[in-house]
Formats: sequence, C-alpha cells, structure tokens
Amino acid sequence: MRKIAFLSLLFILGCSTGDEYDFDGEAALRRVKTLLSHGQRVSGSRELEKAGEYIFSSLPETVKRRIIEFEDMTPEGVRTFRNIEAVIPAADPAVSGGRFIIVSGHYDLKKLEPPMAGANDSGSSAAVLIELARTIKPSRCEIRIVWFDGEECLRRYSENDGLHGSRNYAAGLSADELKNCIALINIDMVGDRDLNYTLSADTSLAMVKTLMKAAEKTGVSDRITQYRGNILDDDRPFRELGVPCVNLIDFDYDAWHTPEDDLSRISAESLAVTGSLVLAVIDELQNASCP
Ligand SMILES: [Zn+2]
Repeated sequence: MRKIAFLSLLFILGCSTGDEYDFDGEAALRRVKTLLSHGQRVSGSRELEKAGEYIFSSLPETVKRRIIEFEDMTPEGVRTFRNIEAVIPAADPAVSGGRFIIVSGHYDLKKLEPPMAGANDSGSSAAVLIELARTIKPSRCEIRIVWFDGEECLRRYSENDGLHGSRNYAAGLSADELKNCIALINIDMVGDRDLNYTLSADTSLAMVKTLMKAAEKTGVSDRITQYRGNILDDDRPFRELGVPCVNLIDFDYDAWHTPEDDLSRISAESLAVTGSLVLAVIDELQNASCP
C-alpha cells in the first residue's frame, strides 16, 4: 500500500515537472539517419533538394508550409537556394497581435573533400526542427520554424559567401514584422553525445537570462557555458536588424567539418535535451511578451 502511494507520488511529481517540455529524441535521431541517407547535401545539389523535400513532406498538415526559393551570388557565381518555412499559427490571432518567434537552423552541408556525413552539422539541427514542427501546438503567439539553406561558406564568410538563407529571410521581413518579432532561437550542432552549449560572447543579457530560466526548468543549466569569443552563425543577420537572438550551439566539437561527424558522434538524449530546452525558451519568451 505504502509502495503504491509512493509510486503514485513519483508519477504525479514526474508529470508536474517534465511533461510540459517533452520532446522525442529517438524520433529526431531517426530523422538524422534519413537526412544522412540523402548523401552530400551541399547547397545547389540534387541531394540537398531531396533532403528539403523530405523535410517538407515530414511537416504536419496543420502547419503552413512553404519552400522559399531564391538566387544569390557566391564566389562560384549565382546559385539557387531554398529555405523551408513551417508556420504554427497563434491559437487566437486577436490576442497574439501578430507577434511571433522564429526558431531556425541550417540544413545544408559544407562542401569538403573528403566529404562529410554531417550528422551533427547539420543533421541535428534539421531533425530537431522537424520534430519541433510536429510537437508545437498553436499557442499564445505564432511560431515560425525555418530551415536555412547556404549557411556554410564555400571559401570564407563574406557578403557573398555563407549565411545565404538567413540573410535572405531577414531581408524579407517587413518593418511591421520586425516590430512583431519577439526573438529568434537558432540551433546548430546540437546532437553531440557530450553536449555543452557554448554561448556566443555577444549574446544580450536579456537573452542569457531567458535562456538560463528555461535551462533551470529543464534541468540543464550546467550544460551552458560562455564561449571565448563571438560565434558567426545564422542568427547574425537578425541580430543586425535588432531582433533579440540566442544561438544554441556546441562549438567545442572535435569532429567539426570532418568525415568523423557521423551518427556514432550524436545521441537521442542530446537531441531531446535541445528540443526540450527550445520549448522552454519559447515558453519563457511567451510569458514575457504574450501574457
Ligand atoms: Zn558547418
């Protein structure tokens, strides 16, 4: 009898602490495997186009989906890029007042010889975004999930090399949208078995506070450290437009841009930690901006 009562208490405690931010890491890991099966997903390749079709077809019909195709100059001439967007509308648009949060990451691979498998960079971010699009229900404000193409540069990051998708998407936001954009949460390399987020040194104090509150709620505060410098990633074009940004990235990854960035290096647990943390950050942002 006592044992049953104890077990029930555990069950109740379990429900009250974790369920709110439940995220299926195993499902995300299966999606990384499928993304890898598409081969060399570099920008402009048939492989990346196929991977993009897979992402698009994995999105539930309850979200508004679109592929945003555009051309941009690269050091090797004009190239075609494709961002993918999934919009989860606010439960009550009258209450949300048009406010929205962007959750983003890239899905292209760096063109390298020997080629990379890209399990962590960028399989992990692309897969976590798919499961987020399938998990998040209409809530207090609109959530836009965006897979950026062309994050990786061909030679060296510059005006015409790298961050193509994020620069194009940011430039497409109207003045009204910029006003209504509560924040952007970017994720990149979030599947490492030994996952520790390295927070870019230029992250604003307000966003650090929001992140730490969310990390406390999901029990992962000890996984967050400050990086020794600034990290250039897809959040940069939005930051330059004044959008509050946080980039969840584990930049201390020794298989970065090598053929060793394969499935053996990532885990379902790390993908679940990231998914839950993103859900908690969204919640914190909504508490502050869409009460
Ligand atoms: Zn990369």
